[in-house]
Amino acid sequence: MSATQLAAPWHCRRNIDIRKTMKPIIIIGAGLAGYTVAREFRKLDKTTPLIMITADGGGFYSKPMLSNAFAQNKQAQQLVTQSATQMAEQLNATLMTGTTVNGIDTQAKTVDTSAGKFDYEKLVLAVGAQPIQLGLKGDAAHHVVSVNNIDDYAAFRDRVDSPKNASPVRIAILGAGLIGCEFADDLAGAGHAVTLIDPSARPLAALAAPALSAGLQSALSARGVKFHLNTVAETVTQADTDLRVTLADGNTVEADIVLSAVGLRPDLRLAHAAQLKTNRGIVIDTAGQTSAADVYALGDCAEYTFSADGATRILPYIAPIMTAGRAIARTLTGERTEIDLKPSPVLIKTPSYPLALIAPAPHLVADGTWQDEAINGKTVCRFYDTNGAMAGFGVSPHDNAIRTELLNALGKKAGE
Ligand SMILES: Cc1cc2nc3c(=O)[nH]c(=O)nc-3n(C[C@H](O)[C@H](O)[C@H](O)COP(=O)(O)OP(=O)(O)OC[C@H]3O[C@@H](n4cnc5c(N)ncnc54)[C@H](O)[C@@H]3O)c2cc1C
Repeated sequence: MSATQLAAPWHCRRNIDIRKTMKPIIIIGAGLAGYTVAREFRKLDKTTPLIMITADGGGFYSKPMLSNAFAQNKQAQQLVTQSATQMAEQLNATLMTGTTVNGIDTQAKTVDTSAGKFDYEKLVLAVGAQPIQLGLKGDAAHHVVSVNNIDDYAAFRDRVDSPKNASPVRIAILGAGLIGCEFADDLAGAGHAVTLIDPSARPLAALAAPALSAGLQSALSARGVKFHLNTVAETVTQADTDLRVTLADGNTVEADIVLSAVGLRPDLRLAHAAQLKTNRGIVIDTAGQTSAADVYALGDCAEYTFSADGATRILPYIAPIMTAGRAIARTLTGERTEIDLKPSPVLIKTPSYPLALIAPAPHLVADGTWQDEAINGKTVCRFYDTNGAMAGFGVSPHDNAIRTELLNALGKKAGE
């Protein structure tokens, strides 16, 4: 089936006549990445046919809200700010929801979906990432849940709110990184009994300075969060009505729910099948193009190339999506535009101990040093690489002026 023969599967129809001879731009994925490109594209081009294909329901929500919604007692549907129909209207697009793309032919320029095959002129992959599966043992390992989209959040809330649970609900979280710590603070703030389990010696070990990890750990402990650090979960078994997590150090944690927050892996399934160049993510050049002509990628599935030194890195955050979305949209209009990736602090949404940070690149961490300072009651940490240049920082609580000063100092030596 070609785009000129679209049958029935889309749920929302746009105003453009897609039976025109012009082949459409197709965006796969309706998360923040897919919607950002679509919005930016429509600012520049109001009429070229645009088809968005997504396996989910297509409602617009801000994913970072998922780890901040319990304390505000928000149900999943309250987080959806625009329905799929509203998004299709707003974007003047055909939005095919509940539709899975199974393959891409970059020579024939077609996508093969659960609703048929469609031609494209240009294609954008915004297919996100998948939660990493830990390979846990035990008869209840399949009860471990992850929250990476609005449907996961709805299912998780149902489990937490289940009348079967006594109060407080006991939640064991595997992983004390950004998402694990945010959920821990949020769930503890909502009155639940949270245990955080992580192989590192401290929370946020991959991102934050030791001094900030220590501050976060004591703030979360004061909220009632319990920690099992330097160990990992090995098995999850059913013990009467409880789940029992057995740790490598021999301890056990009894829980009503086990939430895995051990990280995400770029979804490379379509890219592999289409033989696009991949590394950790789908490798894109400085303008967002994949190794195939007229095929672009951004968001959690992508591995960005920095124009300064040609290094590539996955950047699973909102700020790069905004920058890449603007550039790729312009490139889609025919004007190749570089993605101007600038360092942008990640805000860790732990209200007990809010943090802003730029993590040093992983290869620098072993040999560099953190220097800590207290400024007006804030903890400020600067990371210096072996050449003495500042390559990361963190500050808590947030402070815009300090953050700006730190951003300006990135790449410079102390005192420069
Ligand atoms: C709990 C949580 C909190 C976060 N907090 C922050 C934060 O505070 N700050 C920050 O910067 N970042 C944060 N992030 C990260 C940020 O939310 C993500 O980087 C961003 O939302 C990723 O958007 P995306 O569009 O690339 O992927 P997704 O939102 O995962 O979208 C992927 C889309 O692709 C579709 N799809 C996938 N495969 C197919 C297929 N084969 N066929 C059809 N459709 C397909 C899916 O249905 C979906 O619509 C957080 C992430 C999580 C999980």
